[in-house]
Amino acid sequence: MAKPTGFLEYRRQLPACRPPRERIQDWQEFIVPLTPEGQKRQGARCMDCGVPFCHSGILLQGMVSGCPLNNLVPEWNELLYRGLWKEAAFRLLKTNAFPEFTGRVCPAPCEGSCTLGIHEPPVTVKANELAIVERAFRKGYALPGPPRNRTGKRVAVVGSGPAGLACAHYLNREGHGVTVYERDDRPGGLLMYGIPNMKLGKDIVMRRLEGMEAAGIRFQNSTEVGRDISARELCEGNDALVLCCGATRPRDLEVQGRNLEGIHFAVDFLKANTKSLLDAPGRGSSPISAAGKDVVVIGGGDTGTDCVATALRHGCKSVVQLEILPFPPRERLPENPWPQWPKTLKTDYGQEEAAAVFGRDPRIFSTATEKFCGNGSGEVREVHTVQVAWEKGPGGKYVPREIPGRGKVRSAQLVLLSMGFLGGEETLLQELGLKNPVGRGGYGTERQGIFVAGDMRRGQSLVVWALREGREAARACHDYLAGTA
Ligand SMILES: Cc1cc2nc3c(=O)[nH]c(=O)nc-3n(C[C@H](O)[C@H](O)[C@H](O)COP(=O)(O)OP(=O)(O)OC[C@H]3O[C@@H](n4cnc5c(N)ncnc54)[C@H](O)[C@@H]3O)c2cc1C
Ligand code: SF4
Repeated sequence: MAKPTGFLEYRRQLPACRPPRERIQDWQEFIVPLTPEGQKRQGARCMDCGVPFCHSGILLQGMVSGCPLNNLVPEWNELLYRGLWKEAAFRLLKTNAFPEFTGRVCPAPCEGSCTLGIHEPPVTVKANELAIVERAFRKGYALPGPPRNRTGKRVAVVGSGPAGLACAHYLNREGHGVTVYERDDRPGGLLMYGIPNMKLGKDIVMRRLEGMEAAGIRFQNSTEVGRDISARELCEGNDALVLCCGATRPRDLEVQGRNLEGIHFAVDFLKANTKSLLDAPGRGSSPISAAGKDVVVIGGGDTGTDCVATALRHGCKSVVQLEILPFPPRERLPENPWPQWPKTLKTDYGQEEAAAVFGRDPRIFSTATEKFCGNGSGEVREVHTVQVAWEKGPGGKYVPREIPGRGKVRSAQLVLLSMGFLGGEETLLQELGLKNPVGRGGYGTERQGIFVAGDMRRGQSLVVWALREGREAARACHDYLAGTA
């Protein structure tokens, strides 16, 4: 146990953030870490409770409780408290291939199930994780070297998002020769071209990719499997194939006026922005700009929040974020007890920034979009919305019902659709003669030697799940290659 009285002596303290009005002037990360002593005190708050849920990674009521990677949280909290930073890093890296990503972007279901969280603010697990791994990078023991021996087996990993990267990392560690194929010009999947710079700096992604290359993993970018190289060629040239192509089909909003100019999918807006910043460092001039525009983001989730934050950095005139769901409770409801994921109001960085600039939280709840109207030249100018009430339907499920007379017309020259993803693309699956893998048990497919992982198997999810999927698919693939499956 870290410090028996730690949770009584120390209060939860998160790293500071640069003030919203200052940070929207640039694209840098905004977290200011605690001092090493301050972080050790946060480790001391871990009670090493008898039955810790923080590393359970189970689904309760359809939502994750505890860490999907089964990170050994109480163990490295104790090592952190004792100042054994290197040992803490080894413990952390045992289960998590890339803690520098999760330490920045994970919603931390571990904290939602922390026992201390029953009656006190939970342990700062995510910030502890980040502090441990960043010190490991500074001291030079975060990155694994090449494996001692090579097996002579070759594996092609298709897709370089967190699932593909984690899979490549573990297979390479077993000594297999791994090539990662990526259709984008830079690897990283949504780590590179989805999550914006201020949340996850691209230098952080590059640092890991360079380490992976140094460990012997090959990356073939700007290569779409199924177009630039056939899946058949990959199968012939490799002993196994792992598909980690993501869930890239965004959900559309098929209402009147959808084809007007100025209406984009969130992920296209975010990708164009990051690419422009990487291609022209310092300046960046995205082909989809929010500068001087009234921006309406449709979707109240994390991707929508990333759009709000990006629009603010472009210098938008106004921004609202529409959410069809009702205003969430501020505290856990009785039907959502610990250790379930707390379904409570969370105010994220983008909302904080919008409130600092425009004086109010940009989110508008219980609101559905009825139609878009243009200016006569094919460009969007208005979003017509209706207010909804959530009522129990015939099957006992809550459904939205329009409240008459509560319609609104909102000015908009840029609309960003952020309503989730429908799943992966079919082309590659068809070429390989595979069924849609979403929801299938296990990581193998109908064809021997072909595996699938990440959002492509699981459906739209989180980085932490993608890392777990990559790890488990690598294990299944290794067992197959070693003949122990
Ligand atoms: C804007 C945005 C923000 C997000 N923010 C967060 C967050 O803050 N925290 C969090 O936990 N999760 C976040 N997520 C979710 C998270 O990013 C995903 O769950 C995760 O990246 C899925 O990993 P993956 O490896 O399965 O797929 P992806 O990251 O989607 O990677 C798939 C890769 O496969 C490539 N590919 C596809 N087909 C082919 C082909 N035929 N040939 C070659 N390459 C191909 C694609 O180009 C892509 O690079 C966010 C998602 C989005 C869209
Ligand atoms: S990966 Fe996420 S859930 Fe797991 S310990 Fe880290 S912050 Fe918590």
